[in-house]
Amino acid sequence: MLETLKEKVYKANIDLVKHGLVLFTWGNVSGIDRKSNLVVIKPSGVSYDIMKPNDMVVVDLNGKVVEGDLRPSSDTPTHVVLYKAFPDIGGIVHTHSTYATAWAQAGIDIPNIGTTHADYFHDAIPCTADMTEEEVKGSYETETGNVIVKRFEKINPIHTPGVLVKNHGPFSWGKDADEAVYHAVVLEQVAKMASISFAINPNLTMSPYLIEKHFSRKHGPNAYYGQKKK
Ligand SMILES: [Zn+2]
Repeated sequence: MLETLKEKVYKANIDLVKHGLVLFTWGNVSGIDRKSNLVVIKPSGVSYDIMKPNDMVVVDLNGKVVEGDLRPSSDTPTHVVLYKAFPDIGGIVHTHSTYATAWAQAGIDIPNIGTTHADYFHDAIPCTADMTEEEVKGSYETETGNVIVKRFEKINPIHTPGVLVKNHGPFSWGKDADEAVYHAVVLEQVAKMASISFAINPNLTMSPYLIEKHFSRKHGPNAYYGQKKK
């Protein structure tokens, strides 16, 4: 079942390694089929060099395994919460990529201070609040999803396709698994550039009209970056 999506999600997981976002098995990608509401996700703790498309696990929106011999990623409950809360997304990525995780550990939103950031993320890339002791000791991975959703109460998840979970690391998403990986790469690069920029000048700024210009030329009704869509 969902063979094409399995192939796609498998490839997206391999791409995470190719882009240098993952050490060992510290990362996962999933994709959802919105017609059946089934999610295809990486199996838990399986090394990338022996992983096959058929090892991908199919779960429903309660996180229950529908097909697959292996256990799904331990972060599956977080993915499921996000798919339910953000109906327009089709793929999710989680990594512990170095610079994004450094900002998550510092507990600070990554401010929008450059056109690279503004091309993909309209606002600061937000960092979640601390999780409570109850949340950590309870259904930890589900609650991780819930703190993300809470942080997005006033943020459009399509315009800001990523988040830092405090003391943990980044999650990103997109219209499918490929775009979620793309945003994970951009998020890591933006985090890296922001770290260096603030080291050079802690008082740097960017004007809101420059942010608006860059975001709107790639997104929205008057977008003109790249080639015309057929
Ligand atoms: Zn993690």
